[in-house]
Amino acid sequence: MKVEIIAVGTEVLMGDIVNTNAQYIARMLSMLGLGTYYHSAVGDNAIRLKEMLEVGFERADIVITTGGLGPTKDDLTKEVAGEFFNEEMVLDEATLKNIEDYFKRLGRPLSDNNKKQAYFPKGSKIIPNPHGTAPGCIIEKDNKALIMLPGPPSEMKPMFKDYITPYLSKYSSGILVSTVIRLFGIGESRMEELIEDIIKEQVNPTIAPYAQKGGLILRLTSWGKTREEALDSMEPVKKLLYERLGDHIYGEGDKGLETLVCEELISQGLKVSAAESCTGGMISSSLVNYPGISQIFDEGHVTYSNAAKIKYLGVKEETLTKYGAVSRQTAYEMAEGVAKASGSDIGISTTGIAGPSGGSKDKPVGLVYIGISFKEEVYTYKINITGDRQKVRHMTTMWVFYYLLELLKKYAKIG
Ligand code: ATP
Repeated sequence: MKVEIIAVGTEVLMGDIVNTNAQYIARMLSMLGLGTYYHSAVGDNAIRLKEMLEVGFERADIVITTGGLGPTKDDLTKEVAGEFFNEEMVLDEATLKNIEDYFKRLGRPLSDNNKKQAYFPKGSKIIPNPHGTAPGCIIEKDNKALIMLPGPPSEMKPMFKDYITPYLSKYSSGILVSTVIRLFGIGESRMEELIEDIIKEQVNPTIAPYAQKGGLILRLTSWGKTREEALDSMEPVKKLLYERLGDHIYGEGDKGLETLVCEELISQGLKVSAAESCTGGMISSSLVNYPGISQIFDEGHVTYSNAAKIKYLGVKEETLTKYGAVSRQTAYEMAEGVAKASGSDIGISTTGIAGPSGGSKDKPVGLVYIGISFKEEVYTYKINITGDRQKVRHMTTMWVFYYLLELLKKYAKIG
């Protein structure tokens, strides 16, 4: 069963709004095990929309449109569909009544334009719209179906979920299940090099790599007659991926590094504080993004100058003179200092050269030291990040979460 999606609307065509409807529908279709073969956009133009329907039905069994169901003259999807299928427009009394009631509730007069929304190509199945005035509709002819949905996502999505999903399930002979494997600390090209053969050979599941927020994602999508069957066919491939990339895999599913760290901190009941130099508050800010973090987040300091590092964290002056602010020793004392000062179980520190100036041969831009005081131990890490100032700061934050997650997992195992 081939499905095609057409967004109707000049706003979408001209790039004034992003076609999130196509994104949502394509995802839903894949969950139903139906293939999306094309999606496209056309302006509010009757001739071109008709052409799109002609092309669409030459190559697809089902065409889904969004938009152009409203009351104004340029909303013409249903009218063009009627012409395309050679069906006259007929009034649906029940829909008219709903629209009249809707306007009564709003206390607004009903215009003739609004009545237009109660006309449908003859023989259409009408789909109610509890979130707006424009109902959707479906025309079926010669084993083909045209599904017309409203443009506003707040109306289209519930309509799709509640009415279109059950309607389409009769065409679906199986189900597509997808999951993501999350990686950090490896570049995209290196990862692809390591698993090139697996990606090439794989048909079910398919494997698609993406870069995301400084990390990488492998999306595995597999088809099966049932969800269990689809999940089972993923297992051998997952095993291979873990064998090749296991050192860099930190999780599976929707949760990113920050969420996993916060969940782990809360479940282990470990209090955390941060003393940040080059990240300038990014770590604290990421922690605070997590609802419920107050249970374990004690303090976050931005200790940018040497004086602040000495005054608030107890970093030794001689350490700064001998090794410099950007050094393993300073990161160590900062992490230890913030843990002691706050009484937290975990103290995090960052110190580095974010650039663009300030680098030297020995200490180039992008050199960063991270310290994590974890219970009685202090761990330090040296990393080199390429990129501009913002990237250095962002990637440092990600590395902190990555190392912290490693320690939390290790600690959870030891107990
Ligand atoms: P209405 O009854 O609101 O007029 P409609 O079916 O005629 O609904 P349009 O007028 O085409 O829909 O679009 C209304 C609004 O819906 C747009 O201004 C836009 O905000 C949103 N919208 C339309 N199409 C899309 C799309 N493909 N993706 C995301 N949003 C969309």
